[in-house]
Amino acid sequence: MVDSSAQLASAPPIQLTASDGSGIRLVALNDSDSRGFWLPRLVTANATRAAKDPATIAYVGDLERNHLLSTAVGVLRPSALVPETMAEGDMRVREPVCIVGTRALRDFHPALCAANLKAAGIAARAVEVDIELDRADANALGLARRFDDPGFRAAFAAELTPRLRGDERVGLPAVLGLRDPHAVWAELEHRLGRPVFEIPTLPPSVPGMRLYTILRAALRAAGGRQIIGPEVVGPLGDGPRLEGLRVQVGRREEVRRAGEVVLATGGFASGGLALDSRWHARDAALGLPLAGVPADGAPRFVPGYFDDQPMARAGIAVDDELRPLDAGGEPVYENVRVAGASIAGAVPWKEKSGDGISLASGHRAAGLILQSARAAAAAGATLEAP
Ligand SMILES: Cc1cc2nc3c(=O)[nH]c(=O)nc-3n(C[C@H](O)[C@H](O)[C@H](O)COP(=O)(O)OP(=O)(O)OC[C@H]3O[C@@H](n4cnc5c(N)ncnc54)[C@H](O)[C@@H]3O)c2cc1C
Repeated sequence: MVDSSAQLASAPPIQLTASDGSGIRLVALNDSDSRGFWLPRLVTANATRAAKDPATIAYVGDLERNHLLSTAVGVLRPSALVPETMAEGDMRVREPVCIVGTRALRDFHPALCAANLKAAGIAARAVEVDIELDRADANALGLARRFDDPGFRAAFAAELTPRLRGDERVGLPAVLGLRDPHAVWAELEHRLGRPVFEIPTLPPSVPGMRLYTILRAALRAAGGRQIIGPEVVGPLGDGPRLEGLRVQVGRREEVRRAGEVVLATGGFASGGLALDSRWHARDAALGLPLAGVPADGAPRFVPGYFDDQPMARAGIAVDDELRPLDAGGEPVYENVRVAGASIAGAVPWKEKSGDGISLASGHRAAGLILQSARAAAAAGATLEAP
């Protein structure tokens, strides 16, 4: 929810700097031109910055070709832009790999990962290192905190070094520190004398937490506020502009006023769209009209799991400014934008478009709000001029 669009409009281009003293920085999202596609600028900005600042989370790659990265179970997945700490795991390079794990981390099995990489034609083997972790910390987050400690890193490298072979790259689960992953990764490469890469793991996802920390800090630095928990249960006001939201906070209902709203409540999987016992589908947050819902009596689902499921295309239809449309194709609210899986028409699991749609439409929604706030600010300035 954005409740101060004028403030956002006057905010400088975003440079994401963690304000909690963690020192992690992501340089990106310089959104002075919302027409542009930000990913290439993300790469350029980071590549320049990473050389000067080891605490930057740099993304590498370009949109012309994919890296081929291993999942935690050794399946190869194409990815265009990847965190620098993962890039050496590009399996288009056929150099041998040693996958390193520990029994303390029950969600990452180096032998399974290496066996599947081997089946894909990559010379891979696995090594397990003994790491003592309290049961409560025996997950990726607990391990990442250990890697933040220089003493632990030195001991880890000393134990691993004699077990490595001459030309092997080292693949580790993505646990190389929470505070300053670039420094941890660079130090391990130095200590082990070879390329090191992180492999994404099951939740809790340490790379996700690193990004979350940075984005939350950027939001706060720009004057934003994050409220976790309350459920949006309905719109406030019945005019062409939404006045705000009705939210359920514990057992009571409250009101949150807002000048601009982005609805990003997802599809059926996240409860953004709900299907009741009479097969009536609805947008659970604002009660917006849905498009693509199969007509009464028409099949909603078909037996073949991988077939086109008619209900899967249901969602909110939008215009080219992401405003929700009614059955006649008219915007329901001027100041609501819809982003992500709530939008009608896609079959993300088949198209592999889920996160792409969410990122692109979320970015576009923010750009449109900034644009209209700038226009409003400029109109106000003109009116006030003598
Ligand atoms: C197991 C699994 C694997 C996937 N793998 C991939 C993949 O590899 N690549 C890919 O591109 N996509 C993948 N997807 C799809 C991808 O996760 C979704 O497309 C994406 O998360 C949609 O993002 P979103 O922000 O639009 O909605 P969501 O991520 O669903 O977020 C919506 C949020 O809104 C909240 N919410 C809902 N209703 C309300 C309300 N009334 N009030 C307040 N909050 C509300 C929900 O709790 C949720 O937190 C996968 C999905 C699943 C389930």
